[in-house]
Amino acid sequence: LAIRDSLTGLYLRRHMLARLDEELKRGMRSHKTLSFLMIDLDYFKKYNDEFGHVAGDIVLKTVGKMLNDSFSRPGNLVCRYGGEEFVCLLPDTPLAQAVQIAEAIRAAVAALGLAHAQSPYGHLTASIGVATLGPQTTSAQALQAQADAQLYLAKTQGRNQVAYEQ
Ligand code: GH3
Ligand code: MG
Ligand code: MG
Repeated sequence: LAIRDSLTGLYLRRHMLARLDEELKRGMRSHKTLSFLMIDLDYFKKYNDEFGHVAGDIVLKTVGKMLNDSFSRPGNLVCRYGGEEFVCLLPDTPLAQAVQIAEAIRAAVAALGLAHAQSPYGHLTASIGVATLGPQTTSAQALQAQADAQLYLAKTQGRNQVAYEQ
């Protein structure tokens, strides 16, 4: 089975989930932390509506390459979670550091300067939900749900921002 996405070259979700399971087991044994970033492009349906699906695909490739070039380090993992969603898995990374990385990713997407007149920001942006292992994190699904809840907050609070459990 392919482990990389054909459009972006990033790891696929199922490979990330396998790594996440390993990291969770390892983390429980050795009391290490782990952070999880859920990255979602803002107003991407409108981007496709305005410029077409082919242009949308080029954007996904551009964002994927930027994430891979700038944010995939030995130990961590960037994947295309599906559609216009990406995930960054950050082993041994506490919340404060994960929030800094998320903020750097948010800024890097904005800095691509991809014109998007249908967005109130005028260019392509991303919203990011940050989750870190805590007492409530009993499974991979729980960690994803934590990140998803924060992503939802980032969206409702105006997009182009990072949200995390306070
Ligand atoms: P939000 O700011 O709330 O995230 O809005 P959104 O429009 O980004 O989110 P929504 O979930 O409504 O739409 C996602 C869009 O992403 C719709 C879909 O056409 C587009 N999309 C998903 N996968 C692909 C793909 O592989 N290529 C292209 N070009 N578009 C894609
Ligand atoms: Mg989405
Ligand atoms: Mg979106």
